Amino acid sequence: MSGWSHRHVIDLAAFSLADYATVLELAQRFRALPLSGARRLPALQGRLMTSLFIEPSTRTRSSFELAARRLSADVQSFSPAASSLSKGESLLDTARTYVAMGANVLVVRHRCAGVPHTLARDLDRCGERVAVLNAGDGLHSHPSQGLLDLFTLARQFSPAAPTPEALRGKRIVIVGDVLHSRVARSNLWALTACGASVVLCGPPTLLPQQFAAFVAAPPPGQRQDPVAERGSIEISRSLEQALPGADAVMTLRLQKERMHQQLLTSLDRYHRQFGLSHRRLELCGRAVPVLHPGPVNRGVELAGELLDDPKHSLVEEQVRNGIPIRMALLYLLAAAEGPPPAATPAGDGLKAV
Ligand code: ASP
Repeated sequence: MSGWSHRHVIDLAAFSLADYATVLELAQRFRALPLSGARRLPALQGRLMTSLFIEPSTRTRSSFELAARRLSADVQSFSPAASSLSKGESLLDTARTYVAMGANVLVVRHRCAGVPHTLARDLDRCGERVAVLNAGDGLHSHPSQGLLDLFTLARQFSPAAPTPEALRGKRIVIVGDVLHSRVARSNLWALTACGASVVLCGPPTLLPQQFAAFVAAPPPGQRQDPVAERGSIEISRSLEQALPGADAVMTLRLQKERMHQQLLTSLDRYHRQFGLSHRRLELCGRAVPVLHPGPVNRGVELAGELLDDPKHSLVEEQVRNGIPIRMALLYLLAAAEGPPPAATPAGDGLKAV
């Protein structure tokens, strides 16, 4: 793909507008194809994707595995409890074992921020030809979720041409546990790159004021921001203030497993102040879509009836869009490893067989 220069995908802070456009365009093409069962694209025939998930996952892992199969890649899955990690092997040595078996892409999830980055750097140093795709690391980053959220919103605002442009000038409210959310962080890079105005909403314990400057400078280790001009970030402490004029609302799960202290007085109170319901949503002044990365705590961040209401809820659509987005990422990374896809009998491998 012209202009695509990433060997690994670790953090959306490194994405330019052209990168977003490339991923969205490929995802839109994949989304339009009737792929299921034996009907696949030959694009990644002979390539191997290995998923190394050292933290639980329902959607992301199965979505990556399905995406790889739809591109005819081989898929290998690693279970930490039944592996040599439990015998003391380092993650780098485990990863190198899979590379020796032929892995072209390692999809890595870890509860500690920075692990996919360190792994990618160490594998590069060892001279291994393998791409690392971050599938969520601690509080840091979840690029494929940020991209599928972007794709879902772009398709909502501009169904015929879901490009980054579709987000320009939109007011997107993100409400909830921003502090512990890698999804929010990835969305902040993606949405502001596309020119959206983001309103973050939550109590100070879950949304420190410093988030207003989240995209003001690239993260440590990255020399410059590849995006010349970003949309704004505003902090709000009340939904009554944040919702009027919103074009979409994204709710976040309370990440209880990452809260090391009592950050809320009660879940009931949280729901009353920051939970979304049909009534609350009326504050937007028109019917707006609601997103949630899942898993959802029903009745806490989102009322059950709203989650199940197809007039508003894009939650299932997000899951559906996750597959073409992950196909796009795998295609871009794995196609760069090994012989070019154009060398396959079916041209660039993007015609279904
Ligand atoms: N599934 C998302 C993640 O892995 C969101 C969540 O767990 O709340 O970060």
